[in-house]
Amino acid sequence: MSTSPAAEPSAHDASAAEDAKYIYDLSEGDASMKPLLGGKGANVAEMTKIGIPVPDGFTVTTAACIEATKHDGEWPASLWDDIQAALARLEERTGRVLGAAENPLLVSVRSGAVVSMPGMMDTILNLGISDESVEALGREADSPRFAWDAYRRFIQMYGEVVEQVPAHVYDDALVALKHQRGVTQDTELTADDLKGLVATFKDLSREHMGEELPTDPREQLRRSVDAVFRSWLNPRADVYRRANNISADLGTAVNVMQMVFGNRGETSATGVCFTRNPATGEKELYGEFLTNAQGEDVVAGIRTPRPLKEMEQVLPDAYHELIETMRKLEEHYGDMQDIEFTVEEEKLYLLQTRNGKRTASAAFKVARALVDEGVIDQREALRRVEPAQLDQLLHPAIDPEHGATPLTKGLNASPGAAVGEVVFDADTAERRGKAGDAVVLVRWETAPDDIAGVIAAQGVLTAHGGMTSHAAVVARGMGKPCVAGASEIKIDTDAKTLTIGSTVLRDGDTITLDGSTGEVFEGALELVPPQINEDFQTIVGWADEIRRLGVRANADTGEDAKRAREFGAEGIGLCRTEHMFMNEERLPAVQRMILAEDEDARASALAEILPMQQSDFEEIFEAMSGLPVTVRLLDPPLHEFLPNLVDQALLVQRLEIEGGKQSELKEAQHLLGRIHKLTEQNPMLGTRGVRLALMYPEIPEMQVRAIVRAALAVREKGGDPKVEIMVPLVAFAQELQRMRDLIDETVADELSGSGDQLDYTVGTMIELPRAAVCADQIAEHADFFSFGTNDLTQTGIGISRDDAEGAFLAAYVDDDIVPGNPFSSIDQDGVGGLVRLGTERGRSVKEHLKVGVCGEHGGDPASIALFNEIGLDYVSCSPYRVPIARFAAARAILDGENEEKSQA
Ligand code: ADP
Ligand code: MG
Ligand code: MG
Repeated sequence: MSTSPAAEPSAHDASAAEDAKYIYDLSEGDASMKPLLGGKGANVAEMTKIGIPVPDGFTVTTAACIEATKHDGEWPASLWDDIQAALARLEERTGRVLGAAENPLLVSVRSGAVVSMPGMMDTILNLGISDESVEALGREADSPRFAWDAYRRFIQMYGEVVEQVPAHVYDDALVALKHQRGVTQDTELTADDLKGLVATFKDLSREHMGEELPTDPREQLRRSVDAVFRSWLNPRADVYRRANNISADLGTAVNVMQMVFGNRGETSATGVCFTRNPATGEKELYGEFLTNAQGEDVVAGIRTPRPLKEMEQVLPDAYHELIETMRKLEEHYGDMQDIEFTVEEEKLYLLQTRNGKRTASAAFKVARALVDEGVIDQREALRRVEPAQLDQLLHPAIDPEHGATPLTKGLNASPGAAVGEVVFDADTAERRGKAGDAVVLVRWETAPDDIAGVIAAQGVLTAHGGMTSHAAVVARGMGKPCVAGASEIKIDTDAKTLTIGSTVLRDGDTITLDGSTGEVFEGALELVPPQINEDFQTIVGWADEIRRLGVRANADTGEDAKRAREFGAEGIGLCRTEHMFMNEERLPAVQRMILAEDEDARASALAEILPMQQSDFEEIFEAMSGLPVTVRLLDPPLHEFLPNLVDQALLVQRLEIEGGKQSELKEAQHLLGRIHKLTEQNPMLGTRGVRLALMYPEIPEMQVRAIVRAALAVREKGGDPKVEIMVPLVAFAQELQRMRDLIDETVADELSGSGDQLDYTVGTMIELPRAAVCADQIAEHADFFSFGTNDLTQTGIGISRDDAEGAFLAAYVDDDIVPGNPFSSIDQDGVGGLVRLGTERGRSVKEHLKVGVCGEHGGDPASIALFNEIGLDYVSCSPYRVPIARFAAARAILDGENEEKSQA
C-alpha cells in the first residue's frame, strides 16, 4: 500500500483488507461517512468542509478496528505505517513535530463510535508532551507551569486509560503533594511542584506497569490507538451495546487531532453549548464555559462553569463568532446541535458537534419549531421523535427540578412516576388502593396472583427480575410505572420493612419511583402531569395524515371509551364483556347463572344480568357514537367466576368440623362440587370462547339482546351506534356459522314487531393456528377478522403466558434464544406469519374483508410496523397507547419508504 496522501475514492470500500484505506485526513471526510469515520470523526470533517475552524487531524477508520478485532487485536499489516504517514502529513501542515524540542505538536486521541457510546475509551489529551517538548511548550505559552501541568495531566490520563494504572494512584500522590505544600487547589501548585509530580507519576507508573512508562510519543500514540480498539470489546461497552441494540460489528474509529489549549490564561477558554435548550426545546442561548481551563474541566464539576452569556464580556470576538457558528451548524444539520468548543488566545475552535440529546418534551418542541421555521418538513419531524418519547409524555413525570438524590436505582422497566406508601403484599395493595390510598407495591418479584394489587397500586418496585420479568411486562401493559430488579433493596415481608443501604422504610412510609430512569426516592417528590401539549398533539396530528392503519382502542367501560376517543381512537376494537361481571354487585347473579340446575333457573339469573349488560353497552355506544364498537361475546371459562377451588374445599372442611348449620354446609358442598366439575386441567385450552357459547347458548343470546337494546336506546337519544359482534376462539368454520345463525335470529327476534332496523356485522377473533390456516373457510361466515395476538402467541408458540413469563422466558431473552418477549412485541416470523397467512387466506375468499388486531401488540411500534406491512386495516390497543399507535403507524410508512430508497 502506498503511503501517499492522495486518496482514491474507490478505496472507501474497506472489504478488500489488503489495500484498504484505513486513514482519512479531516479534509477528506464528511458527515455521510459516519459508518467509516464514526460520529465524532465524520462531524469534525464536515465542519472542516463547511469552513468552520476545527483543529487539524486525521481519523483511523472503524474498518481498521474491525480488522484488528477479527484478528485477536493484531493490526492490519499496513496500519502503523499509514498512521505514521498521516502524522507526517499533519506535522507538515502544522509546521510542528510530535514531541519535538522545538515547535512541538501535541494531539488528542479520541475514540468515536458510529453511535455515540459512553463506556468506550476515555479521550487522551496532550499526547506529545515529553521531557524533550515540555520546555518548548512552556516557552510558547510563556508559562512553564502550564507546560508541567499539561505533562502531569497527560501521564495521569495515559497511565490510567492505556496502561491500566489505577486512577487513585495518581490522585493520592496529587493529594499528598498538596497536603505537603499546605494548599487546597491544584492551581496553587507551582511549576516546580508539578515538575516534581511528573517525576513521581513516572515512578508510580513504573511500579504498576512493571516496566518503564514509554517516553516516546510515537510509541504512546501506537498504544493509545490500540487501547481504543480494545475498548470496543470491553465489558462496559458491551453492556451499553446490548442495552441499546448496537451491533458489535460496527467498530469504533480513532481521531487524532492537534491540541488547542483553553488553559493558556485568561484569553483562553473552553465550553459546551446547545443551539436550543435541550430540557425544554426553547430557542434560547444555552451553554457554559470556563476561562483558563481544558476539555473536561467544564463537565467534571471541579470548578463551577459560567453561563455562556457572560462570555460576551470576557471574550467578545470569540463569543460572536461562536454564536454565528451555532446558527450555521444548526442550519446545516437541520437539527439542534450539542457543541464543544475551545478558545485559544482569543481564537475559536470547534471540537465536536452532534445532534443534541433532549428530553421528550424538548424533542417535540424542537421538531415542530423546525417545521415552522421551514428547516425540515413534517415527515422529517416525525422521524425526529421516537415512540418511547411519546410514551414518556403520556405519563405523569417527576418534576425535573427535584434535585433529590435517589436511594437506589433499578431497571427502568415501565415509564412514569409513582408516589405512594409502601405496601408489601398484593392483597393490601388491592384493598388500600381500592379505598383510594396511593400505595406502591414492593415485592421481591411479582407473580400472576399479584395482578389485582398491581392494578390498584400507583407503581411497582421489585428487587428481582429483568425488563421482561412479570412485573415489568404487566406494568408496561397497564401503563403503570415500574422499577424492577432493584437488587440493592432488602425486603422483609414479615417485619414489613424495606431496607436500602442505611435507610429503613416501614409499611406506610412514602416513596417515589421514577419508572423512566429506574430511580427510587424517599418521600414524595413533586409530579408534573402528562404533557400532552400542543406540540405533542400537532405532531401526532401530522402522523394521522400519513398513516394508513386505523387505530382503535380496547375499552370495557364508558369511561375508558371516552378517554380513548380523546386520545384519538377511531372506534373500539375490543370490548370485553366478562370484565362487566367481575364486580361484587354482579358476581352473585353470574354465579347463580353458572350454578343453575336447569334452564329455567339459568334463564332467570340471565334475566337479572341482562339490564346490567345493557347499561354498560349504552355507555360505551354513547361515548363512541358514530364510530364502530366491536363487542366480544363472553370468553373466559366459567370457573373464573367462581371461588377458588382450594378456598372452597377449606371452607367445606371448616364447616364440617364446626358442625354448624346443615343448610350452609350443603350449599358449600354443592358449590364445591360445581367448581370441581368446571375446573379444567388446562383452562386456556378448555371450555371457553365459542365452545362455551355453543354449550350454553342462552348466554350469548342474552348478550346479543343486551347489545340490541342498548343500541336502540342510544339511537333513541340521538346517538349513532355502530355495532360489531365478535365471536372468540373460533377454530372451525362450523362454530362461526352456528353462532352467526344464533346472533341473526336473536337480533331478528328483538326487532320483530318494533319496526326498527339495526345494521350490525358479525366477525370472529383469529387466535388459534387452525383458524389462521383455515381462514378461507371461516371467512365465508365472517364480516371481519380480528387477530387476538395474545392468545395466538400462546397457542401459536405453544406457551402459556403466565407460566412462561414466570419461568423460562426471561432466560430465553437473556440468552438470545428469542429476540424479546413475544407477548410485548410480536414474534415476527412465527405468530406474525400466522397473521399474514390468516389475512391472505381470508381475503382470498372475501377480497375486502376487514382485518384488525386487538391486544397489547396493537400498541407496540415494532408489531405495528409488521401489521402495516401485512396490510391490516386497523390495530386496537389500550386507550393511553392510542397516540403511540397513531404515531407508529405513520412511522411504519416513513420507515418503509426509507428502506425502499436504500434498496434502490
Ligand atoms: P467525549 O466523547 O468524552 O466528549 P472527547 O473526545 O470529545 O470525548 O474529548 C473529551 C474532552 O476533550 C472534550 O471536552 C473535548 O472538547 C476535549 N478535546 C478533545 N480533543 C481536543 C483537542 N484536540 N484540543 C482541545 N481539547 C480537546
Ligand atoms: Mg465530546
Ligand atoms: Mg383470546
